[in-house]
Amino acid sequence: MNSTESVWKQLTDHVRETAILKSTQALLEWDQQTMLPQRGVDWRAQQITWMAGQIHQRETDPRLGDWLHELADADLAADPHSESGACIRELQYRFNKKAKLPLELVEQQATAHSIGQQIWAEARKDNDFAAFAPHLEKIFALKREEAAACGVTEDPYDALLDDYETGALTEPVDEVLTRLKEALVPLIAQATDGSVPVDDAILHRSYPRQAQEAFIREVTAAIGFDYQRGRLDVAAHPFCMESGPHDCRMTTRYNESLFSPAFFGSLHEAGHGIYEQGLRTEQYGFPAGTWCSLGIHESQSRLWENLVGRSQGFWQHFLPRARHWFPESLADVSVDQFHRAVNRIQPSLIRVEADEATYNLHIIIRFELERALINNQLAVQDLPEAWNQKYREYLGITPPDERNGVLQDIHWSAGLVGYFPTYSLGNIYSSQMFARAAGDLGDLEEDFARGDFGPLLEWLRTAVHAAGNCYRSGELMQKLTGSTIDERPLIDHLRQKVDRICAAA
Ligand code: ZN
Repeated sequence: MNSTESVWKQLTDHVRETAILKSTQALLEWDQQTMLPQRGVDWRAQQITWMAGQIHQRETDPRLGDWLHELADADLAADPHSESGACIRELQYRFNKKAKLPLELVEQQATAHSIGQQIWAEARKDNDFAAFAPHLEKIFALKREEAAACGVTEDPYDALLDDYETGALTEPVDEVLTRLKEALVPLIAQATDGSVPVDDAILHRSYPRQAQEAFIREVTAAIGFDYQRGRLDVAAHPFCMESGPHDCRMTTRYNESLFSPAFFGSLHEAGHGIYEQGLRTEQYGFPAGTWCSLGIHESQSRLWENLVGRSQGFWQHFLPRARHWFPESLADVSVDQFHRAVNRIQPSLIRVEADEATYNLHIIIRFELERALINNQLAVQDLPEAWNQKYREYLGITPPDERNGVLQDIHWSAGLVGYFPTYSLGNIYSSQMFARAAGDLGDLEEDFARGDFGPLLEWLRTAVHAAGNCYRSGELMQKLTGSTIDERPLIDHLRQKVDRICAAA
């Protein structure tokens, strides 16, 4: 074996073993969210903390830096989009970024985020932002230090966004989100001006839990979630995670007097799961077999949840099946009625309960605020008022208290700054992809009306899933759609929907 070959073998063995550890840690976390008896929590925290330390050591192992250095000029690295080239490029990128962070800062952040989450949970319960404010100040101060350590001084937000959307820059994201906001504010006002009321009372009827679960399993399997390689369970906070190349687990929660949360939540998580299941199994743990970015991951969940699951064609096919499972609640309901109900647009206080259109304004508000905070243009103590001001301005509503306002999300307390925009990037990417897929495949709603989701699934498998992280999100979108990020397909989609809903009245 020549030197390059042996270095490559050492590197790939190292990555494969790290993947074993990470997937084992994921299983511990899944178990914690779904099965763990209450008194098992302390030992579980020790297990997870120890595993996290092992993983961190492996990912910052100086040998990794040496191997990558030796491979930098090798043929294996020549094409950055090949399996080996993407592996070397992405590992090097992450290694460099991690290596810049002083251990002291990493430890300070770990402590601040752990305490921050506890204080946040208390503060939310007590409706007391002032109790959380000093901790939030500390968290943002450490985030500024982190950006400075990464060498990003111009706009520190760049360094933070990059953790979730590698290579994305704040300025173009800001421009896209601003244009999206300018289109959405009047569109939402038009949809909710009261001239065309949308009645969703049919969604508030009786939906027994067992029937919900059976229907969800039927639908998610039909769109492509493979239950031989995945599971559906119950958790307080729905999520989807993988614990190996053939082990993808999603969760949901049921409300027997409301149809939407479990159903659309499950379609959403199944979209994440279908993506994980479409990754190349033989490349598991390597960039070629890993999801591309949080924005691309979210594009897959949003695509199935909204662009497919809230379409008229989808309900032409599935409403008869829904009537089978919920005969008493849906016997008198037409496809048009049901389609309108699941597409009701209504400004509301809580992000996770928001509809397809207003959701993006919830995200834009958070993005604008966290960017102002990180740039010292907004003081933490002024955050609640700034929050309420933006809710009034963009959504026409005022949070009655901090619990339903500035304290509703866990993200900032956990140090997830720069994360929020990836939700809207996901919505934007999903519409770009869907428009492109429709251009290639023809009228997709006709397929859905026949219960045929195969052509769209195959398109996604080839175009998005098989690419893994051989491309970064901007590169992937450029390759697929000719544009890195473009809000117009999403705006067109929402405008058409509003017109259709209003016209159907
Ligand atoms: Zn998601």
